[in-house]
Amino acid sequence: MLKFFYSTILLLSCFSIHVNAAADTSETDNSATNISTTGTNLVLVTIDGLRWQELFSGADPSLLNNEKFVREGHHVQEKFWHDSEEKRRQLLMPFFWNTVVKKGMVIGNRNIGSNMSIANPWHFSYPGYSEIFTGVVDHSINSNKKKLNPQMSFLEWLNNKGNYQHKLAAFGSWDVFPYILNKERSQLYINAGFDSAEGYALSDQAKLLNDLQKEIPSPWHNVRLDSFTYRYAKDYLLTVKPKVMIISLGETDDFAHDGHYDSYLNSAHQTDQFIADLWQTLQTTPGYQDNTVLMITTDHGRGSNADDWQHHASKLAVQDYMKNLKAFPNGIRGSENIWFAAMGPGVNARGEIKTTQEVKQKQIAATALTLLGEDPKAFNPKAGSVIKEIF
Ligand SMILES: [Zn+2]
Repeated sequence: MLKFFYSTILLLSCFSIHVNAAADTSETDNSATNISTTGTNLVLVTIDGLRWQELFSGADPSLLNNEKFVREGHHVQEKFWHDSEEKRRQLLMPFFWNTVVKKGMVIGNRNIGSNMSIANPWHFSYPGYSEIFTGVVDHSINSNKKKLNPQMSFLEWLNNKGNYQHKLAAFGSWDVFPYILNKERSQLYINAGFDSAEGYALSDQAKLLNDLQKEIPSPWHNVRLDSFTYRYAKDYLLTVKPKVMIISLGETDDFAHDGHYDSYLNSAHQTDQFIADLWQTLQTTPGYQDNTVLMITTDHGRGSNADDWQHHASKLAVQDYMKNLKAFPNGIRGSENIWFAAMGPGVNARGEIKTTQEVKQKQIAATALTLLGEDPKAFNPKAGSVIKEIF
């Protein structure tokens, strides 16, 4: 019964896509002139709960010098401290600052009037990822529970188009992604949580990863270590060659919840190295060089001081789903603030951009589709508008 319901929805939405496409020929013609400047492939990397504070200012002295959050012997002061804020952020994420921002753009540095935040009312992960991938806020998405997403992601929409079919993949450290992307209905290739690599001609490296993943205990029951997620994604990229891929890394959020600022910083730094390796791989792999867009963002922010940086939740969330945070009756202030970066064909190399109005997380889906040369209105006319700052 449920299957029948979903396929009816799918048929109806396909029909409306055709109607919209037919009605919008002038707009399609306009965007067609830009096709040479847009990418044909896209990789979207998400870094769970990485604060804009670290991205733009590097290690936070109020946390770095707090022995409650930095354990003895972890040497993160030596690795990540510099008096200059600009040097400090480069120490933490060198590839991001020396390459992504130089060749592309970033928004979200509230210290310079560059403002971006989520539109969903919760400030936690499932609603955040859903907002990123579907471009809308669905008020029925009010927990992190494993519930199939009623909304369609831009990947699912692309998967229904002839030239993208079976050319999309999502890799995630958190085991809820198959629900957020509604694997059952979308039929996307998804490897998340503690999934092994399967379903394609595995390299020897992927077979080894499958063994290691079983042998190395994760600190968390529902999130694996990001190294597995990244290396599975890379193996799939090199072997299957998808056109659109999501890589959702999770350690930063979980180390922050655990109160381990040392591991949170190390993980942010390692993620930067993954992104550097990813870009290097894309630029040296036939089919991806010079025609692949990279987008990087996060699902939510976090608190801003030693009392609340570990957490993230809205005032509404602490009254309901996140009752464990009732010591913060107003929610975690500032945990709605996020950031977004992109580089590649179609992205103007504007560097660190000041925004004229608040940019919203729900604009990311339309931005991804526009950079792929697709019409976001045909995907979902209710989705947030394209982030114009990237052009
Ligand atoms: Zn979290």
